[in-house]
Amino acid sequence: MQAIPCNSNRNTVGFAKFLNFARAFETLSPPTLSDGHPSYASLIQRCRETKSITELAIIQTHMLKRGLSHLGLGSKLVDGFLKCGRMNCARKLFDEMPHRHVVTWNSLIAAYVKHRLSEEGVRLYDRMILEGVMPDDFTFSSVFKAFADLGLLVEGRRAHGLSVVLGFEVSSVFVGSALVDMYAKFGTMQEARLVADRVLEKDVVLFTALIVGYSQCGENGEAMVVFREMISKGIKPNEYTFASILISCGNLEDSLTGKFIHCVTIKSGFESAVASQTSLLTMYSKCGLVDDSLKVFKHFVNPNQVTWTSLVVGLVQNGREEIALSKFRGMIRSSVIPNSFTFSSVLCACSSLAMLEQGKQIHAMVLKFGLGTDKYTGTALIDLYGKCGVVDMARSVFDGLLELDLAPVNTMIYSFAQNGFGHEALALYERMKELGLAQNDQTLLSVLLACRNAGLVDEGLVIFASASSNPSINLTNEHYACMVDLLGRAGRLREAEMLVTRVENPDVVLWRTLLSACRIHWEVDMAKRVTNMVLELAPRDDGAHVLLSNLFASTGDWNRVIEMKSLMREMRLRKNPAMSWVDIDREVHTFMAGDRSHPNSNEIYGMLEELIEKIKGLGYVPDTRFVLQDLGDKEKERSLYCHSEKLAVAFALWKSSNRATTIRILKNLRVCGDCHNWMKLVSRAVGREIIARDAKRFHHFRDGMCSCGDYW
Ligand code: ZN
Ligand code: ZN
Repeated sequence: MQAIPCNSNRNTVGFAKFLNFARAFETLSPPTLSDGHPSYASLIQRCRETKSITELAIIQTHMLKRGLSHLGLGSKLVDGFLKCGRMNCARKLFDEMPHRHVVTWNSLIAAYVKHRLSEEGVRLYDRMILEGVMPDDFTFSSVFKAFADLGLLVEGRRAHGLSVVLGFEVSSVFVGSALVDMYAKFGTMQEARLVADRVLEKDVVLFTALIVGYSQCGENGEAMVVFREMISKGIKPNEYTFASILISCGNLEDSLTGKFIHCVTIKSGFESAVASQTSLLTMYSKCGLVDDSLKVFKHFVNPNQVTWTSLVVGLVQNGREEIALSKFRGMIRSSVIPNSFTFSSVLCACSSLAMLEQGKQIHAMVLKFGLGTDKYTGTALIDLYGKCGVVDMARSVFDGLLELDLAPVNTMIYSFAQNGFGHEALALYERMKELGLAQNDQTLLSVLLACRNAGLVDEGLVIFASASSNPSINLTNEHYACMVDLLGRAGRLREAEMLVTRVENPDVVLWRTLLSACRIHWEVDMAKRVTNMVLELAPRDDGAHVLLSNLFASTGDWNRVIEMKSLMREMRLRKNPAMSWVDIDREVHTFMAGDRSHPNSNEIYGMLEELIEKIKGLGYVPDTRFVLQDLGDKEKERSLYCHSEKLAVAFALWKSSNRATTIRILKNLRVCGDCHNWMKLVSRAVGREIIARDAKRFHHFRDGMCSCGDYW
């Protein structure tokens, strides 16, 4: 009879011998050997390492046949099954064991928590207590994690109490850290801090748990305090401490401390650790130091999804959309799969540049990666299509979403609003009740905007009145401004003025909105009154000065205009220059009024002449009230002809004369009345659709009409 091999290190030979032995055992009488614990133990250990489940099963059968229910070996076997990922086998064996050591309970509980089966872990913990087995520090560190995962604050506190009674809370930094981590996850940082203060020998894990907690609860200042305390105690931070504290620096936009900590990470040798490197990148972009974040990114050897996403998100947040899109393409080229955050961020970049074609390509990728029904990506897509004036697409994305909550609904209402689809916006607003969604401040703002852009004055007034009595809505100046605009544009200037006086602290924006309404309706007297209010609140408000000088100009009061202009010059105020953009074949062209800097300038002006001849035949008369200089009639007309939006449209038509595509232009200010009329007539004369997005809204010009119904 062969003996069970004792030398576990010569594993293969040992196990083969054992197998022979086991087979022989089936037929032969029981072997004479005594509990060969070292051999069983070492064989189990080997199976753990090689994750060999068949061999483990043989050992188990063998042990059972030999009647070996030794406590220590049983735990080893349970542990062996767990290491091989056989939770069920481990549990079955565990349940069959007549006696169990606390270590066995611990391994099973820890395994449940690790595999996100925290509920079962907690159930086992409760049974352990009932059976009178005293938990130890390992038990506690596992169950605290389970309570945090399950959000069971009360139960977590009860277990905390027991750990205090058993003396683990203060004496074991292991338990202390797990407790701090649990309370941090519950967001009860006061309790986390109290525990941390009581632990006798603090280590890096405990401090890091505290810093992560503060950072995630948005208490970035406190995170800094703890970090300093940790350094002053001579405890060396690890990769995770750096990762977390750098995020806090970013949130505080404290680039000075951030840079200092960057130096410390280099000195501590953690600069190339992925977690701290990604946080460094995020810190620099949150502090607005985009170039530094790009430098950090260069040092990444194999940037992963999180890193690429942090880079792209940071670039978009800092208004560097073009680089963000090129980095995104780099990400795709490196075969790193984007997630919904990456997608929503690049889609946001496309919306702010109104890059519809790129956006559509990204939409195709979204579908390829199966995120078409994801609400974050979906919301970004709705926003993109809304901002590019393609409401049909926005609506079809919206209809395809699996889960509707406030974000996509608000975005959809806003898209309808922007594009002048007032009734559709109102219908969706009504449908929210069916969907069980309560409106928030943003919803109200979007729906009021929809009423404003579609001229739905009565509907807007009803919604506004009911929202005023809704306690969960916090009416802001923005809401009032929207109402003032709605009434003002409809010519109900007295009511608009009344509304402003109802506001507790009317801000300058509100008065300025009323002032714009006065300008639209050429209400010079009220305008003067309102301008005084604006200038009282903001003596250097260039908007008011410009508006007032425009007003004087439109009534031909050139002396006052000159007066205003010299006043403005004195105050060194400059009018924001009007600019228009057009995106043709992935290239953005920028135009300013009277601009001749474009390489195709001659063709553009030629096209302009041609268009004006055509539309004069359709009854176009230049509206020189929109000219702000004191010029003769001919010159006034000439200065109107070369407004930036007209140049952009002329260029787009010249460049794409053989195509039937829609022309999309972008303007930084509100489109003027003459250009509005001009574009309506051009759309009819050339049989093309023109979509213009100005500072206020969208205009879809088609066959001599505009979607705004001349109301903007
Ligand atoms: Zn114009
Ligand atoms: Zn319009």
